Amino acid sequence: MPKKKTGQAKKRAKMKSRQAEIRSGAQRDLARSNCNTSYECKQCGMRQRTRAFCYFCHAMQKPAACAQCGRTKCLGGDCAVRHGAKHATGMDLVGAVCDHCAAWVCHSRKCLTTHACACPLADMVCIVCCRGPEVCGGRFFNCSTCSAALCEEDQLQHEGTCTTIDGDSFKCKSCNRTGVYSCLSCKVSFCDTHVVRRGVVLSAGANPPCPKCSVTVVETKAVSVSTRKYEYGRHNTADQSKADMWFAPSRASGAGPSG
Ligand SMILES: [Zn+2]
Ligand SMILES: [Zn+2]
Ligand SMILES: [Zn+2]
Ligand SMILES: [Zn+2]
Ligand SMILES: [Zn+2]
Ligand SMILES: [Zn+2]
Ligand SMILES: [Zn+2]
Ligand SMILES: [Zn+2]
Repeated sequence: MPKKKTGQAKKRAKMKSRQAEIRSGAQRDLARSNCNTSYECKQCGMRQRTRAFCYFCHAMQKPAACAQCGRTKCLGGDCAVRHGAKHATGMDLVGAVCDHCAAWVCHSRKCLTTHACACPLADMVCIVCCRGPEVCGGRFFNCSTCSAALCEEDQLQHEGTCTTIDGDSFKCKSCNRTGVYSCLSCKVSFCDTHVVRRGVVLSAGANPPCPKCSVTVVETKAVSVSTRKYEYGRHNTADQSKADMWFAPSRASGAGPSG
C-alpha cells in the first residue's frame, strides 16, 4: 500500500491526472499511429507524412510500410496472399492503400480489415487551414489544450495562442460575475453557476463539461489563460511560400498497388 494521503491531496492528485489524461488522450493516439509518422522521400528528399506515393513527386514509398502495424517486412502468418517461407517486402507486402491517409496497408488480414475503419486520419480537418490529409502532405496533431485537429504547419502557432479567451475579460457571459471556469475550445469563461448545465451530474472533484461543447472546462486561474486577442495569422506572412509547398501541383490518380 502506498503512503496514506489526506483526502484533499488525494482528490487534487486524482483530478490533475484525470485532466492530463483527457488532454493527452487523443494526442497520444494520433502520435503513435503508424499512418501519422514522418517519412522522407528517397527520390525528391521531401519530408512528409508517410504515404504510398510521395506527396510531391509521386515516387513510390521505399520501403513500403504498413499504415496500421508499421512493419516493412512480412515473415508470414495471417497473410491474405501466400508467400510461403519467403519474406515479403515492397509490393509483395502491400495489400491496399488507405482511402483516408493514402498510406500502404500490408497484406495481413488484420490490417486489411481494420485499418480503413480505424484510420485516425479519417475526418481529420485542421481547424486553422481547413485542410484534410488528402490535400495536406504533413502530419496531423491534436492541440494539447483544446484537442482540436491541427496540421503540422499550424500546430505550433495554434498551441502557442490556444490558452486565450475571446473578449477582454474573464467575465461570465450570462451574469457578468467572475468566470471561474474557462472552456479553451469555445474560448469563453463561465461563473461557477452557469458552467453547470441543467441536468448534468458531476462526479466529485471533476471539472464540469462545457455547457456549449461538452469539452471539460479548466479553472481559469489554473492555466495561463489570457484575454489577449489571438490571430491565426499564418496566411498573411512570409510563410506563404512554405504554406504553398504543402499543396502538391497535382494529385496522383488511380494510385494503387498495381500502379
Ligand atoms: Zn518525392
Ligand atoms: Zn500491417
Ligand atoms: Zn505475409
Ligand atoms: Zn489510413
Ligand atoms: Zn492547417
Ligand atoms: Zn487548441
Ligand atoms: Zn454566470
Ligand atoms: Zn466549450
